[in-house]
Amino acid sequence: MPTGSADGRALQLSELPDAVVGVLSRLTDAGHQAALVGGSLRDLLRGGPPGDWDIATSAPPEEVASLFPGATWENPFGTVTVRATPGPVSVEVTTFRVEAGYRDQRRPDEVRWGGSLEEDLSRRDFTINAIGWVPHDLGARQGLLVDPYGGAADLRDGVLRAVGDPSERFAEDALRLLRAVRFATRFGLELDAATEQALRRHAAAAAALSGERVRDEILRILGARQAAEPPSRAFQLMEGLGLLAVVLPELQALRGVPQAKARPGDALDHSLHTANALTPADPYLRLFGLLHDVGKATTLGDGHFIGHETEGAQMVETILRRLHVPRVEVARGRHLVRHHMFAYAPAWSDAAVRRFIRRVGASSLADLFALRRADDVASGVEEPQRGGLDELRARVGRELASSPLTAGQLVVRGDDLIRELGLRPGPVVGRLLGELMEAVLDDPAANDREALLALARASLARDPEGVPGGAGTHQARAAPHEPGP
Ligand code: ATP
Ligand code: MG
Repeated sequence: MPTGSADGRALQLSELPDAVVGVLSRLTDAGHQAALVGGSLRDLLRGGPPGDWDIATSAPPEEVASLFPGATWENPFGTVTVRATPGPVSVEVTTFRVEAGYRDQRRPDEVRWGGSLEEDLSRRDFTINAIGWVPHDLGARQGLLVDPYGGAADLRDGVLRAVGDPSERFAEDALRLLRAVRFATRFGLELDAATEQALRRHAAAAAALSGERVRDEILRILGARQAAEPPSRAFQLMEGLGLLAVVLPELQALRGVPQAKARPGDALDHSLHTANALTPADPYLRLFGLLHDVGKATTLGDGHFIGHETEGAQMVETILRRLHVPRVEVARGRHLVRHHMFAYAPAWSDAAVRRFIRRVGASSLADLFALRRADDVASGVEEPQRGGLDELRARVGRELASSPLTAGQLVVRGDDLIRELGLRPGPVVGRLLGELMEAVLDDPAANDREALLALARASLARDPEGVPGGAGTHQARAAPHEPGP
């Protein structure tokens, strides 16, 4: 046990917002016990900016809900979310919990309330998260710390320590393994020796966690603003504890995969540096940066990684699905990894720039440039090579402002082709539109009605029924009335 216990110490929390004071007052005025707990108290004690507000109370959930009209009650954990004013500030009010039994290392078999603050704190994960502040004069924001596990001292000394027996705590809920990594790196804490030993011993249990819970922890690691340590440290810590191989084996597989880059290190080092170089404001993009080279583990040959972006895109889709990442983000990640290998040179023609935009899609360009910049920083690419990206960005901007780049911007539509050339709707119309688009990408001045119709007539005369994709002629003949693409 650490010395210098803060248990029972009087503490004024002058930064406590009025809205939170209001929630505490309403509970205590109604005769209930109420304490500030969790992350926001920890953050106030550290002198950092507080996150969301958690209050623990003796009042049962129905009682809490009736005291705060409009509050939402999240069964079955008895957490009532109060939108407190002024603010509004979201405050989570949870009845003192007593939990019984964890069979699956994922969630308690049952949650009961009716315990004391001390019991409630005893079921929390780490000492720094197991501190309560019980108000005695809310007007003056005066209260007493309840700190049975020495969390305030651990916070001061920079130690992350499980509450009670670390082995039991991790056996109860494997998510705490990842939470340990998150808190240690966010606040720059050393792992207490017994806690570290238990982390190693229980690392394999992370395999039982649901994809959603793993996803949320990884996103919190990648999304932490003002973290003491960069994400690379979190993933290195996970690697050292044996967690990375369980949670993201595809990333672990990059350890030892050699790279010929200016900056030394293997493909895993490079991936971690890439994540570091992206902003926490977009944690998904950071995740894609972390995963952008996963295809390298299986495509290494001759010192090159032929096709690693195609292989990688497939792997990233598999990983993201496993983590139950929303579909739009799966598509975004897959697409970015697929296209991250573009090789710009100032010699590119304007038509090549336009083709690049069309291939990547205008809405993905900002992401792709951000990813490449991070990839370059992580590779040790220096100016002026890195500046080539700025040049491409500027040229892309000019093309987007001045040139037609999508079929919708062609002055000739499918309907026009059908009417003017006497065609039936079908794949041939799609083929012709594709050819016209190519012609306009080569030369924006070709976006002229008569010129495009003439081009389409010429193409039709050369090949009346062919459609792109091989045995097109037969296909077109077999189904002449198929609707067009
Ligand atoms: P953050 O600032 O990231 O929100 P936090 O400490 O508030 O960090 P939350 O997930 O919001 O973390 O949880 C609030 C509190 O609930 C924690 O401080 C901790 O006391 C407790 N807690 C949350 N998850 C667990 C868990 N899996 N096991 C034990 N206690 C937990
Ligand atoms: Mg919180």
